[in-house]
Amino acid sequence: MSKVLDLLGSRDQRRRLRLVQWLIASLVYVGIAILLVTGVGQGWMDTTALAYWLGFVALVLVAGYAALRSGWTEKFRDPSVSVWQLSMGVLAVTWGYLICGPMRTSALFPLMVIFAFGAFALRWRQIAFLTALALACLVAAIVIRSRYPQWLPAQGEITPLRLDINNLLMLAVVLPALAVIAARLSGLRQKLRDQRQALGRALSEVERLATTDELTGIANRRSMQVLADRSAALSSRQLTPFSVVILDIDHFKAINDELGHATGDAALHAFAQRASAVLRNTDTLGRWGGEEFLLVLPGGPAGVGAVLERIRAAVRSRCLDARTLTFSAGVAHHRPGESAEALLARADLALYEAKRAGRDRDVTAD
Ligand code: GH3
Ligand code: MG
Ligand code: MG
Repeated sequence: MSKVLDLLGSRDQRRRLRLVQWLIASLVYVGIAILLVTGVGQGWMDTTALAYWLGFVALVLVAGYAALRSGWTEKFRDPSVSVWQLSMGVLAVTWGYLICGPMRTSALFPLMVIFAFGAFALRWRQIAFLTALALACLVAAIVIRSRYPQWLPAQGEITPLRLDINNLLMLAVVLPALAVIAARLSGLRQKLRDQRQALGRALSEVERLATTDELTGIANRRSMQVLADRSAALSSRQLTPFSVVILDIDHFKAINDELGHATGDAALHAFAQRASAVLRNTDTLGRWGGEEFLLVLPGGPAGVGAVLERIRAAVRSRCLDARTLTFSAGVAHHRPGESAEALLARADLALYEAKRAGRDRDVTAD
């Protein structure tokens, strides 16, 4: 059963929604058709005339279904082809109006459904077009009824022209009012769209701010902590090895003291940018605090030494004009089951060893 529904209704969510709208329109048509058939029983309508009308409606519905179901309409700006569907509705209503004799005032009620739907789906220009189309069709129907009655099928007693004109005037008041409502709705929809976009932009900016270190432009401590935790969990579960390295710039206090804090800031920024530039694209560098940085490197221990050498070469002479910049590094390779906290503590201890051994070197924790 659900397979049949899938086949008829498409799995594509938006296409499905369009087909549901089509189904609602079809049900309205069916309801109207039933009423018209009872009109035949009353002697208000001619059977052949009704048959032609039913043929027209069936053609519109089948063509609409095929176009929507196949996805053919998706090349248009409005894939629901609402203007086309609603215009066909206006034609069907006018046609019905011409042939249903004394029932014809009620035959105009479906126009309300058409315009209520249009108010939600259309821009106000399209609504204005639909309004003009409906009024023009009705005028044409009145002209045909009064000038060329011989074109029309038999339909019981002849009702006075005055009634048709009343119907027209009533619609001339109601439809433009609906167009105004439609314009307000379409303005609201546009405002909602704009607000949603602004909210999306604000959210991604907040996300960027929450994960980025302001001074250096690289990942901040919080996002590095998340990365280390996640890497440790993944490594423990799937035995995908990774390493962490804590880098600490040597004698940074002296740089601040001798060259000023602003130069120190610039050196930190340059260090972060130059070091990031020589990483493999799976490696991540973040600012761990002060003049300390954390590197997370997926993969086995093999490549870590080479990465550190590249960073060393990239930052040595180019982060500060006046002097060379060196760093000490504590390396730790993750052991299955080990927490990120324990891993980072080992890296920190190794860093301490590197400092004690004279700086500008790497020490790997055992
Ligand atoms: P060591 O070789 O032992 O690491 O010596 P060090 O001077 O680098 O280490 P220490 O921890 O004594 O000093 C770190 C300095 O980094 C002190 C602090 O003023 C400086 N620092 C921390 N954060 C910033 C920052 O955002 N900007 C600047 N300009 N300096 C910072
Ligand atoms: Mg330090
Ligand atoms: Mg330092």
